[in-house]
Amino acid sequence: MSRKPIIAGNWKMNKNLKEVFAFMANIDGKLPSEDKVEVAVAAPAMYLVPLVHHRGKNPLKVSAENVYFENSGAFTGEISPAMLAAEGIEYAIIGHSERREYFHETDEDINKKAKALIAAGVTPILCCGETLETFEAGKTAEWVSGQIEAGLAGIDGKDVANMVIAYEPIWAIGTGKTATAEIADETCGVVRSTVEKLYGKEVSEAVRIQYGGSVKPETVEELMSKENIDGALVGGASLEADSFLALLKMY
Ligand code: PEP
Repeated sequence: MSRKPIIAGNWKMNKNLKEVFAFMANIDGKLPSEDKVEVAVAAPAMYLVPLVHHRGKNPLKVSAENVYFENSGAFTGEISPAMLAAEGIEYAIIGHSERREYFHETDEDINKKAKALIAAGVTPILCCGETLETFEAGKTAEWVSGQIEAGLAGIDGKDVANMVIAYEPIWAIGTGKTATAEIADETCGVVRSTVEKLYGKEVSEAVRIQYGGSVKPETVEELMSKENIDGALVGGASLEADSFLALLKMY
């Protein structure tokens, strides 16, 4: 089964609107064909609608960095899956390690977000990944499969097949330490086997699994050549248009 790779930038809490427009102007007409790779940027909530309105004919998908699991109501400060869907936003990252750590999001919250996104027609990018301590203790596989089982609980196989899962070792995020392509592939393989155990081969062969953690233009090609890696979730190297385009050069 051939899975279309998905390279997604994660801008985190960076850029002002002028910089967002400058980025868009600098990538205009330069993205690879959608037949080869899907390209997305995850941006702060206030830039999502401007991105959708200014992408023009560029094959650029837009992703939220977070979402709440209710569709409306008295939840001051939150944005909902229904709001994202109504504005044509295709993806939402859920369970990023920064959300888990600084905002105390649990596997249960993340599972509710995944279900709410799917119901609204927005594709979740479900993040998982271990700390350095867990990695050094040799417990990565156990940890990551636990996060995947909890994150996917109660979700139908047909929906899981369309999801994106991002394996992001916490020790590699923003540290400049990319996991070796072998380690990244091995753990993305653990994610795939966990999906297979839960849903069978057809779903596990369809789900796309990204690697994330200090991916750079110099490391992306080797990572993407691995069997179980179907794309990348990229923070730092996605911020500048030149470096973002360099990540896509192989396509
Ligand atoms: C991320 O934010 O998901 C990430 C992987 O960041 P970086 O590429 O900067 O490590």
